[in-house]
Amino acid sequence: MSKLIIANFKMNKTESETKDYLINFLSKFEDDKADLILAVPFTSISTARYMLSGRNISLSAQNICEDDKIGCTGEISGKMLADSGVRYVIVGHSERRNRFKENSKMINNKIKNALKNRLTAILCVGESLVDKNTMNTLSTLKNQIEEALKGLYENELENIIIAYEPVWAIGSGKTPTEKEIELAVKAIRKVISDDFSQKASEQIKIVYGGSINPKNINKFKDIEELSGVLLGGACLDSNIFMQIINSII
Ligand code: PEP
Repeated sequence: MSKLIIANFKMNKTESETKDYLINFLSKFEDDKADLILAVPFTSISTARYMLSGRNISLSAQNICEDDKIGCTGEISGKMLADSGVRYVIVGHSERRNRFKENSKMINNKIKNALKNRLTAILCVGESLVDKNTMNTLSTLKNQIEEALKGLYENELENIIIAYEPVWAIGSGKTPTEKEIELAVKAIRKVISDDFSQKASEQIKIVYGGSINPKNINKFKDIEELSGVLLGGACLDSNIFMQIINSII
């Protein structure tokens, strides 16, 4: 199975910068080498959609409103995203949990709204440094997953990808050991098997994200339990991004 590679542009690149980036990137990337999902800013979605037409590369949004009701100035509905050509949406990123105070109920609502609009939710979970230092990594993951997936039916997990992103690893240059990632991913699968089924736990896609770069990518590519990776800073330069893609495929 080809590797899943998710690129989170975060709040980077204007529309014209995205265009320049994609001109360079698309001339080098071979679509059949990996399952690629580009999570561009809202303002670049339309341009990216146009540039990706005919290519086997998917688009993701980085946020979604909790529901599609009116009276949400400044928000983007699931219906708008689906209509814009986006197939995925990132939910529960630690930057939104921490800076924008998104709590577990909001994250659960966002996931339900994504599913209602036939979008696949990329659910980010991960422990803080305090959780890690107090040996609370696995209980944090369990709690975040159970709260986020509350009320979902087993068949809806087909449209969920879990991104294990330790908060302390994001943008810090620090990464967990292979052993730590394996333990976390096993714990995530156990929660899914306890709350849904063994089959769902075997089938759900889990990726790792946090400070991946061309120098450390080899560490992640052979972790059997992982379906792929999620990149932040390292996807912003298309040459560096290609280097990582070439190492992982
Ligand atoms: C992220 O923000 O989801 C992420 C993985 O960032 P970085 O790769 O820059 O740590």
